[in-house]
Amino acid sequence: FKRLALKEKSQDELYEMGKSFNHMIDLLEENFEKQEQFVSNASHELKTPLTVIESYSSLLKRRGKERPELLEESVDAIHSEAVRMREMTEQLLLLAKNSEQWDLQPEPADLQELVQQSVKVFQNAYGRTVLFESSGPIMAYVDIQKLKQLIFIFLDNARKYSDESITVSTGTRERHAFVKILDHGIGIPKEELPKVFDRFYRVDKTRSRKQGGTGLGLSLAKEMAEAMGARIELESVEGLGTTATIWLPLD
Ligand code: ADP
Repeated sequence: FKRLALKEKSQDELYEMGKSFNHMIDLLEENFEKQEQFVSNASHELKTPLTVIESYSSLLKRRGKERPELLEESVDAIHSEAVRMREMTEQLLLLAKNSEQWDLQPEPADLQELVQQSVKVFQNAYGRTVLFESSGPIMAYVDIQKLKQLIFIFLDNARKYSDESITVSTGTRERHAFVKILDHGIGIPKEELPKVFDRFYRVDKTRSRKQGGTGLGLSLAKEMAEAMGARIELESVEGLGTTATIWLPLD
């Protein structure tokens, strides 16, 4: 039946079919390469903190008793690398999900209140000043915990890449609610802006590592936003600062 159906196709139709088949193969290959690249990047990134932990712990084992001054430095390094590894593993597990597996639990919520709570938790955790501006209550239908997680990614970046106060604002425009997170930090060079959403991408690896980043925050934010039907806008000027805006549909 298939052969007969093919026989009835015109030359042009067969050509078009072949073209789309080739295109499909290309896409599959591209996806497969991406997957391979991701696994290799992930293993590499997890290896780095492990190496630090291994070398500091073996140093402590060999010299710890005779050189107690090593203790503080080693324990600090082991601890911060262990924290980074935990964060990375948590983020990798979330990234392994596809959008249907996000299991969103939307419920009615006041965005103003939700954002204010996130800001408070963040301020208490990091002791950073966050200015909060809002035009009033905004009723929306959202997964409260997931949205808080999303906001946290941007607050955490603002903290890592700026020293001054951070401003968070909420409001509505054209049937959308927005949450804006603004910092006056180092900013992102224009040519790097499209790449920062790629997994493991960091503008400056050494500097970012010192801040304790994983390079996965923004790619996770993108996936989470997509699952929520939200959109992320990232504006930045190198040396002046960055503004991240989460746009949530109100319908
Ligand atoms: P990381 O864990 O390294 O912060 P992200 O995926 O969250 O990873 O961000 C990717 C890169 O984008 C960061 O390493 C940093 O170079 C840049 N970046 C993200 N947010 C900001 C910001 N608010 N200011 C300056 N650079 C930023």
